[in-house]
Amino acid sequence: MQIIRQPAAMTAWAKEQSKAGHSIGFVPTMGFFHQGHLSLMRMAASRAALVVVSLFVNPTQFGPQEDLAAYPRDFERDSTLAAEAGVAVLFAPDAADMYPKGCSTTVTVGNELTSQLCGVSRPGHFAGVATVVCKLFNIIQPDLAVFGEKDWQQLAVIRRMTADLNLGVEIVGHPIVREADGLAMSSRNTYLAPSQRESALSLSRALALARKLAAEGERNTARLTAALRDFILSFPETAVDYISFVHQHTLQELAQADEDTVLALAVKIGGRVRLIDNGRVLG
Ligand code: AMP
Repeated sequence: MQIIRQPAAMTAWAKEQSKAGHSIGFVPTMGFFHQGHLSLMRMAASRAALVVVSLFVNPTQFGPQEDLAAYPRDFERDSTLAAEAGVAVLFAPDAADMYPKGCSTTVTVGNELTSQLCGVSRPGHFAGVATVVCKLFNIIQPDLAVFGEKDWQQLAVIRRMTADLNLGVEIVGHPIVREADGLAMSSRNTYLAPSQRESALSLSRALALARKLAAEGERNTARLTAALRDFILSFPETAVDYISFVHQHTLQELAQADEDTVLALAVKIGGRVRLIDNGRVLG
């Protein structure tokens, strides 16, 4: 596996591969790999001749009060895991090379997809994500890119941007990878104190509860939300950021749950660790 740090060197490599007729599958990440990341890499490998993984903790998608400095990092372990997963190139640029002095262009996706859910507590987050993914697509020129459904809103935003800007990259969604007890894998799970681990299960268990209630006939999302709020708050140290029933593609709030409904959850544990999860309620 090659490690490339300079955007220009990355593009030169990609152009060479394209000339040689090799397709490129791309997985953007912020590192600190878990089985979720590795599963995305395997999916990319099953669909493209060569896999490029970016490892970049993108400063522009973090708010001023967020965990940019504390975000977990372990480059040695990540590069070993990526090599074992058959990755051809680990692209790990410095922020100064991604955003050189004078860089002043931002990609913003419309409010319909970015103003709600995580967009409320993280203003500017999706502009940061869209901008860096657009830049990475231009640098790496992949045929396809794999994103996790764990970040459902992010996936919807990237699909919109890719279509709107004619970027010509196939966007592939990967199902959420979970721990044996149901907790969605996340680099941020490492922030959880052992005593908070049980409370982190409030999200996946709330999803299960919503499915049970919906299967029993409850489709009214206001009543479902009230039941889920009580359930989540019954776990110690939990605070609800949002509980939203939205259309899977438009992300618009729905009054009644149906086959197109995704339940999106964000819960803060211990006032510090913000976790997200989502899933379909029916079907
Ligand atoms: P991150 O490093 O957290 O930015 O995540 C990089 C990619 O991995 C994103 O497309 C995420 O949606 C995806 N991802 C993170 N956690 C999971 C998970 N538990 N299951 C599936 N995909 C995930």
